[in-house]
Amino acid sequence: MKIFKALATLAMVSLLGVVSANAAEKGLVGISMPTKSSARWIDDGNNMVKYFQEAGYKTDLQYAEDDIPNQLAQIENMITKGSKVLVIAAIDGTTLSNALANAAAAGIKVIAYDRLIRDSKNVDYYATFDNFQVGVLQAQTLLKGLKERFGDGPYNVELFGGSPDDNNAFFFYNGAMSVLQPLIDAGKITVQSGQQGMDKVGTLRWDGAVAQARMDNLLSAFYTNKQVHGVLSPYDGLSIGILSSLKGVGYGSGTLKMPIVSGQDCEVQSVKSILNNEQYASIFKDTRELAKVTVAMVDAVSSGKEPQINDTKTYNNGVKVVPSYLLKPVAVDKSNWEATLIGSGYYKAEQIK
Ligand code: BGC
Repeated sequence: MKIFKALATLAMVSLLGVVSANAAEKGLVGISMPTKSSARWIDDGNNMVKYFQEAGYKTDLQYAEDDIPNQLAQIENMITKGSKVLVIAAIDGTTLSNALANAAAAGIKVIAYDRLIRDSKNVDYYATFDNFQVGVLQAQTLLKGLKERFGDGPYNVELFGGSPDDNNAFFFYNGAMSVLQPLIDAGKITVQSGQQGMDKVGTLRWDGAVAQARMDNLLSAFYTNKQVHGVLSPYDGLSIGILSSLKGVGYGSGTLKMPIVSGQDCEVQSVKSILNNEQYASIFKDTRELAKVTVAMVDAVSSGKEPQINDTKTYNNGVKVVPSYLLKPVAVDKSNWEATLIGSGYYKAEQIK
């Protein structure tokens, strides 16, 4: 019996040995994420580590806390450590050219994750969502809410953009404006501040405090005797700041109805805000799916195969068009949050209570 047990243990040990040898065999993947200040990037990182490990890779996951030199140092370190592939969500999409030249010289493949890396030929593939469509959906949710809460209009709307160093911010803004501009031109929507265009409405580093301060200024400069009905916000973290500013001057209490505010990422706090009738809508981008697409891309490139892509036109990074895989974003509001977010298993019901 003792001998049998000893043999069984030995067999298990060697089995584990084989498993970890396989994992090591597929190599190391460096995962460089921008920041932990927003839950989505934490989910992205965790999902990727899980799926990469299941596929037999080792991972080196690093967060750069929105500090560009920090992200560069982390990427250089991943190169030195012998990563086979780098998966990068850039803080500033234009600052990585030198690091990526070093990666290419070491034979390392590079996948741009969610955000396009610009101005470098050394970006092999791009995994993301249909970012223009994100903007379209943001504007459509805004219009749906405006009609629901304020009737047929005309409406006063203010516009916010994402970080001007993030290529996505332009796609979100352009997507939204493809819906809103015709209504502005027709006089159905008025931007009382006149502030339009990413150079005027961009929010550096997607910082909610910056959005809140800008909203404060807009309210005191243009809305002392007018009502704002809607705010285009491209990200939940900005929406939180914008809503605080609105609440600060009395919107959402008494007879002053809360303006319709859009968002993105379906972060827990913002889903709660939607249920509380504060934020009106958000956009769900299933980070589990993005992680899966990325792992499949890495698996293909590291075995010399072509990964599956579905877009070869949209994402010109200034040097080349980066072959991409685009996933579908989904608009979420009070009417479908449960089916979309709980039904898909993305969140557990207790998280939203
Ligand atoms: C992402 C969004 C996110 C934003 C701020 C963008 O690049 O695509 O999902 O809301 O960054 O983190």
